[in-house]
Amino acid sequence: MRLLILLGAPGSGKGTQAKSLAERLGLVHLSTGDILREEVRRGTQLGNQANQHMNAGELVPDDLILDMIKTKLVFDSMNRGFIFDGFPRTVTQAEGLGWLADEVGAGIDRVISLAVDDEVIVGRLSARSSCGVCGAIYNDVSNPPSRAGFCDNDDAALIRRSDDSEAVVRNRLTVYYQQTKPLEEYYSRRGLLLKVDGHGTTDQILTRILTSLAASGTNDRTQV
Ligand code: ADP
Repeated sequence: MRLLILLGAPGSGKGTQAKSLAERLGLVHLSTGDILREEVRRGTQLGNQANQHMNAGELVPDDLILDMIKTKLVFDSMNRGFIFDGFPRTVTQAEGLGWLADEVGAGIDRVISLAVDDEVIVGRLSARSSCGVCGAIYNDVSNPPSRAGFCDNDDAALIRRSDDSEAVVRNRLTVYYQQTKPLEEYYSRRGLLLKVDGHGTTDQILTRILTSLAASGTNDRTQV
């Protein structure tokens, strides 16, 4: 089973790229943020525990996240592999993933880190919306829907995430630098890190990622 990790600050485009990569490479897209938001919406015990942390722009405790990932990995262990989006976010989570991967006989293939300037991130997140039905992500500036406020795929109303306000975004960035950025070093030491420029259009970034994966010898070149 193949495991790819997408690292990057909030708003670096991980979610958008992970969706496209999952399709291109035949992997399951696993976004911890999406799973947590769904748990919150359904009012589960995990959702209730996670909600306060998410609204403050803080991380949800590692043990809750690792339990959640373990369930997904074991449940879906027959598929070709996963692309993780928003996980791991701390060194503890990265170590936990290492053990879980061993347990299910999988290896971490590559870790792609999307590099984007802070000011670009704050701008992107305040212009971001998504479809409540199909999950498509839009941006008022760089990727607007054809009809303002409505999804191109299914015409459902677009929604803004409650943690995309400027103050919460700034806190998410601080938390990212303190807790997640060190993972670049962690995976670089293991020879797994690919750094990719996250500026530009979504197509340009996808091409950069696929080219970089191909150059590192982990991708089927015909898919680029
Ligand atoms: P972004 O990367 O844009 O911040 P996500 O959708 O990945 O958005 O995550 C939203 C929130 O969900 C985070 O701010 C955090 O509170 C919580 N979260 C998601 N993934 C994790 C994780 N692996 N560990 C801890 N908290 C997480």
